Amino acid sequence: MTDSNCLFCKLIAGEIPSGKVYEDEYVYAFRDINPQAPVHILVVPKEHIACAAEINGENSLHVAKCFEAIAKIAEAEGLDKGYRVVNNCGDDGGQTVMHLHFHIIGGTKLSERII
Ligand code: 5GP
Ligand code: ZN
Repeated sequence: MTDSNCLFCKLIAGEIPSGKVYEDEYVYAFRDINPQAPVHILVVPKEHIACAAEINGENSLHVAKCFEAIAKIAEAEGLDKGYRVVNNCGDDGGQTVMHLHFHIIGGTKLSERII
């Protein structure tokens, strides 16, 4: 399922250019337009899931596939010393695009810890 009004659905469909770094049957990944670290990649399910609060037994395969892709992308990007995976959920969580996405942030020693 896609949402024709959704920015990330449009990126996945190729309607808007993205710096694609990975794609498979379930997952699409591209470089963040406003990188917060030397490596900053967004990993999204091709299925339109609005946010983490909408993950359920029906759609969780798409989320698992995102994490399989995250491991592959991190290796391909040379993040052998580690990285951070971030998900912002909803308004209080600071989510600005309502299509579930995981930020891979790395390529440097990350200093800010939230938890
Ligand atoms: P959020 O704040 O929802 O967790 O993350 C949304 C992310 O999407 C932000 O880091 C923002 O820089 C990125 N972003 C927003 N619009 C675009 C776009 O058109 N292209 C790309 N590559 N990234 C985008
Ligand atoms: Zn979408």
